[in-house]
Amino acid sequence: MSSAPLPWHLLPDNASIGHSGQLLIGGCDTTEIAASFGTPVFVYDEDHLRARCREAVTAFGHHATYATKAFLCVAMARLAFEEGMSLDVATGGELHVALAAGVPAGRLVMHGNNKSAGELAMALDAGVGRIVVDSFEEIDRIEALVGAGRPAPMVLLRVTPGVEAHTHEYIATGQDDSKFGFTVSTGVAHRAVERAAASPAMDLVGIHAHIGSQVFRAASFAAVVGVLADFTLPLGLPELVVGGGLGVAYVEGEEAPTISQWAKILLDAAADSGITASIGIEPGRSIAAGAAITLYTVGTIKALDGIRTYVAVDGGMSDNPRPVLYGSGYEAFMPAAVEAARERSVRVVGKHCESGDLLVREANVPELLEVGDLLATPVTGAYGHSMGSNYNKVLRPPVVFCRDGDARLVVRRETHDDLLLTDLG
Ligand code: PLP
Repeated sequence: MSSAPLPWHLLPDNASIGHSGQLLIGGCDTTEIAASFGTPVFVYDEDHLRARCREAVTAFGHHATYATKAFLCVAMARLAFEEGMSLDVATGGELHVALAAGVPAGRLVMHGNNKSAGELAMALDAGVGRIVVDSFEEIDRIEALVGAGRPAPMVLLRVTPGVEAHTHEYIATGQDDSKFGFTVSTGVAHRAVERAAASPAMDLVGIHAHIGSQVFRAASFAAVVGVLADFTLPLGLPELVVGGGLGVAYVEGEEAPTISQWAKILLDAAADSGITASIGIEPGRSIAAGAAITLYTVGTIKALDGIRTYVAVDGGMSDNPRPVLYGSGYEAFMPAAVEAARERSVRVVGKHCESGDLLVREANVPELLEVGDLLATPVTGAYGHSMGSNYNKVLRPPVVFCRDGDARLVVRRETHDDLLLTDLG
């Protein structure tokens, strides 16, 4: 591993360096944010989020749908909608937050591979713009719910196109062996189309596919469009949504296409395949991941002779489960000295009662790192806060949006009393 400083491109767009070498995000001093709001804390560059939303909207208009599972709170839902995106919600909970943010129901797309009758009723009563149907059971449930004052919703059918996404097996979803959607290769997807098209309880407007997440290979996206063309062209439906999945760079040496480059690949492939349906996308990670860093405080440093050094911080798998779930890699750096060389090789671990609770398996940090210092991980804006938990009854961190020198608390830190809110004793 190199001892180079943190590669600058892993920081949010509006990162800069303060007078004493500290990191500023959106003009806000990250060391002051830690002092004001405590650690751990998620710090977002609001303009970075806005710019990524606009990039998607420029290419796809309101068929650019933000996948809220990547990161959702009221402020984020509002921001994505203000920038022109529609929003994908995959559960009743995500639907509830998006509606609470004031996003018009008509701009929401209801997802999920096992939507309950309750969630479908919620979506229908709210009047969501689209429901992406994932199973025959769901068709039955919608048929049972529609009528008696509930109009037939516009639906897309999610299909599995049989494309390998070249990503971690838990986030690859386009291959035949998947819990999602109707399989194209076996003819099941055709049967689903016949069933939905004939049903008076739904208006079939399109086909949906999502091949997986954290996909870097442009060829995978072009391939999925090709396979979908064979399937969708004879159907003549007006909409085709190709999901999200664009990868982002997390560590030194990684590079990912931009949203605009991805859009061009998709739109070119669609044109080459003769697709005339309007194309939609559902980016999550590529909107939110690079926009944030997480600030932690170092609590212990244990140098085990001849083995390794463990640096323990005040968060861990409860604010970022990705390293444990997928073996994902991250970088670490000192926000007080963002340009410092990182000569010391350590393992950054959390405070949970699990040996597996690690944040960065092989981290390089500055030699001068001491107990009490701030340590940060970049590219934590997606699938961190949203996948967080209360394991060990650790309090979920706050979220701060930074813009033009103003640090706005958009999600407060949980309190110990919050932990008892649902506990009836
Ligand atoms: N759309 C669907 C249906 C998904 O399942 C996901 C993620 O799992 C996304 C969009 C967002 O994917 P990403 O965050 O990789 O862009």
